Amino acid sequence: MQDSLRARMSIEDFEALVIEAIDSLPEEFLTRLDNVDVTVESAPSRAQLAQQGIPEDGLLLGLYEGVPLTARQNYGFVLPDKITIFQESVEMACSTPEEIVHEVRDTVAHEIAHHFGLDDSALHALGL
Ligand SMILES: [Zn+2]
Repeated sequence: MQDSLRARMSIEDFEALVIEAIDSLPEEFLTRLDNVDVTVESAPSRAQLAQQGIPEDGLLLGLYEGVPLTARQNYGFVLPDKITIFQESVEMACSTPEEIVHEVRDTVAHEIAHHFGLDDSALHALGL
Protein backbone atom coordinates (compact mmCIF):
# COMPACT_ATOMS: atom_id res chain seq x y z
CA MET A 1 0.00 0.00 0.00
CA GLN A 2 1.54 3.28 -1.12
CA ASP A 3 1.14 5.91 1.56
CA SER A 4 1.46 8.67 -1.05
CA LEU A 5 -1.91 7.65 -2.48
CA ARG A 6 -3.55 7.87 0.89
CA ALA A 7 -6.51 10.24 1.06
CA ARG A 8 -6.67 12.31 4.23
CA MET A 9 -9.28 14.34 6.01
CA SER A 10 -9.72 16.03 9.35
CA ILE A 11 -11.08 14.02 12.27
CA GLU A 12 -14.13 16.34 12.35
CA ASP A 13 -14.93 15.66 8.69
CA PHE A 14 -14.35 11.95 9.17
CA GLU A 15 -16.64 11.78 12.21
CA ALA A 16 -19.29 13.68 10.25
CA LEU A 17 -19.06 11.02 7.52
CA VAL A 18 -19.57 8.26 10.07
CA ILE A 19 -22.67 10.03 11.42
CA GLU A 20 -23.99 10.50 7.86
CA ALA A 21 -23.36 6.83 7.15
CA ILE A 22 -25.43 5.85 10.20
CA ASP A 23 -28.21 8.32 9.30
CA SER A 24 -28.36 6.91 5.77
CA LEU A 25 -29.28 3.44 7.03
CA PRO A 26 -32.86 2.29 6.53
CA GLU A 27 -35.24 3.47 9.26
CA GLU A 28 -36.13 -0.11 10.26
CA PHE A 29 -32.47 -0.72 11.15
CA LEU A 30 -32.06 2.53 13.03
CA THR A 31 -35.06 1.89 15.26
CA ARG A 32 -33.67 -1.55 16.16
CA LEU A 33 -30.19 -0.42 17.19
CA ASP A 34 -29.98 -1.18 20.89
CA ASN A 35 -27.24 -0.17 23.31
CA VAL A 36 -24.52 0.38 20.74
CA ASP A 37 -21.89 3.14 20.57
CA VAL A 38 -20.11 4.07 17.36
CA THR A 39 -16.72 5.73 17.75
CA VAL A 40 -13.78 6.76 15.60
CA GLU A 41 -10.19 5.87 16.44
CA SER A 42 -7.08 6.41 14.37
CA ALA A 43 -5.90 2.79 14.10
CA PRO A 44 -6.52 -0.60 15.72
CA SER A 45 -4.30 -1.79 18.57
CA ARG A 46 -2.06 -4.84 18.12
CA ALA A 47 -4.41 -6.77 20.38
CA GLN A 48 -7.43 -5.87 18.23
CA LEU A 49 -5.60 -6.98 15.07
CA ALA A 50 -4.49 -10.24 16.68
CA GLN A 51 -8.03 -10.90 17.92
CA GLN A 52 -9.28 -10.63 14.34
CA GLY A 53 -6.47 -12.80 12.96
CA ILE A 54 -5.06 -9.90 10.92
CA PRO A 55 -1.28 -9.47 10.52
CA GLU A 56 0.34 -6.32 11.96
CA ASP A 57 0.77 -4.80 8.50
CA GLY A 58 -2.81 -5.67 7.55
CA LEU A 59 -5.72 -3.26 7.42
CA LEU A 60 -8.68 -3.36 9.79
CA LEU A 61 -11.18 -0.67 8.79
CA GLY A 62 -13.81 -1.26 11.41
CA LEU A 63 -14.46 -3.44 14.43
CA TYR A 64 -17.58 -4.68 16.17
CA GLU A 65 -17.27 -5.68 19.82
CA GLY A 66 -20.23 -6.73 21.87
CA VAL A 67 -23.15 -9.09 22.21
CA PRO A 68 -25.21 -9.35 18.99
CA LEU A 69 -28.97 -8.85 19.39
CA THR A 70 -29.52 -12.48 18.42
CA ALA A 71 -27.35 -13.67 21.33
CA ARG A 72 -28.87 -11.58 24.12
CA GLN A 73 -30.40 -13.94 26.61
CA ASN A 74 -30.18 -12.69 30.20
CA TYR A 75 -28.81 -9.46 28.82
CA GLY A 76 -28.62 -6.55 31.18
CA PHE A 77 -26.21 -4.25 32.99
CA VAL A 78 -23.50 -4.83 30.43
CA LEU A 79 -21.39 -2.31 28.54
CA PRO A 80 -22.88 -1.16 25.27
CA ASP A 81 -21.80 -2.82 22.06
CA LYS A 82 -18.98 -0.86 20.51
CA ILE A 83 -18.39 -0.21 16.84
CA THR A 84 -15.09 1.45 16.03
CA ILE A 85 -14.21 2.91 12.65
CA PHE A 86 -10.45 3.33 12.15
CA GLN A 87 -9.75 6.56 10.31
CA GLU A 88 -6.10 5.95 9.30
CA SER A 89 -6.91 2.46 8.05
CA VAL A 90 -9.80 3.75 5.93
CA GLU A 91 -7.60 6.55 4.56
CA MET A 92 -4.88 4.07 3.63
CA ALA A 93 -7.40 2.00 1.68
CA CYS A 94 -8.57 5.08 -0.25
CA SER A 95 -6.96 7.53 -2.64
CA THR A 96 -9.79 10.08 -2.92
CA PRO A 97 -12.30 11.65 -0.49
CA GLU A 98 -15.12 10.04 -2.53
CA GLU A 99 -13.63 6.62 -1.86
CA ILE A 100 -13.51 7.46 1.84
CA VAL A 101 -17.23 8.31 1.79
CA HIS A 102 -17.98 4.92 0.20
CA GLU A 103 -15.63 2.98 2.43
CA VAL A 104 -17.06 4.56 5.60
CA ARG A 105 -20.60 3.70 4.47
CA ASP A 106 -19.69 0.10 3.69
CA THR A 107 -17.74 -0.32 6.93
CA VAL A 108 -20.48 1.18 9.13
CA ALA A 109 -23.14 -1.02 7.45
CA HIS A 110 -20.93 -4.10 7.85
CA GLU A 111 -20.27 -3.54 11.56
CA ILE A 112 -23.92 -2.72 12.28
CA ALA A 113 -24.89 -5.97 10.56
CA HIS A 114 -22.69 -7.73 13.14
CA HIS A 115 -24.73 -5.97 15.87
CA PHE A 116 -27.80 -7.58 14.31
CA GLY A 117 -26.16 -11.00 14.56
CA LEU A 118 -24.86 -11.60 11.03
CA ASP A 119 -21.37 -13.09 10.95
CA ASP A 120 -18.71 -12.46 8.30
CA SER A 121 -19.58 -15.53 6.22
CA ALA A 122 -23.25 -14.47 6.11
CA LEU A 123 -22.16 -10.95 5.11
CA HIS A 124 -19.88 -12.28 2.37
CA ALA A 125 -22.79 -14.29 1.00
CA LEU A 126 -24.83 -11.05 0.88
CA GLY A 127 -21.95 -9.18 -0.79
CA LEU A 128 -21.34 -6.95 2.22
ZN1 LIG B 1 -16.90 -8.37 9.86
